[in-house]
Amino acid sequence: MSEYTKILVAIDLSEDSSRVVERGHAIASKNNADLHLIHVIEPLSFAYGGDIPMDFSGIQDEIHQQATQQLERFAASNGIDAQHQHIILGRPEVEIHATAEELGSDLIVVGSHGRHGLALLMGSTANGVLHGASCDVLAVRVGKKE
Ligand code: AMP
Repeated sequence: MSEYTKILVAIDLSEDSSRVVERGHAIASKNNADLHLIHVIEPLSFAYGGDIPMDFSGIQDEIHQQATQQLERFAASNGIDAQHQHIILGRPEVEIHATAEELGSDLIVVGSHGRHGLALLMGSTANGVLHGASCDVLAVRVGKKE
């Protein structure tokens, strides 16, 4: 029996994303599992809404379009079809959990920067995904080697 059947790989579209999806692919092919990709766009209003009284909808649409194109290109170069690509507006950890549940994923793969000091105290997306996930989470070490 396969250990994992549906793997959700979360990417921030940075250059680290290739490493994260590579690990997801390696596990998917060993387990003959389905692989899905998710990118979450954080609404500008979450960051600035209360402080700056302006309409962000135009810029937000532009960000959405750009991110969708980037995700499509990234997915195509990694052999992932449109039905397996998810682009969602919200908070990354919340939407990654919700999508994993919706899809019935049994593994979430995220990148992790191995932070130190203040950055460690402030937490990370990988940390947020790990806490509260109802399935396994693999944190792939990304970023500079020390
Ligand atoms: P961070 O902790 O924000 O540096 O991000 C580490 C990892 O969390 C990334 O490599 C991705 O796997 C995931 N991640 C961060 N931001 C997003 C996002 N907006 N959408 C999907 N995954 C994300």
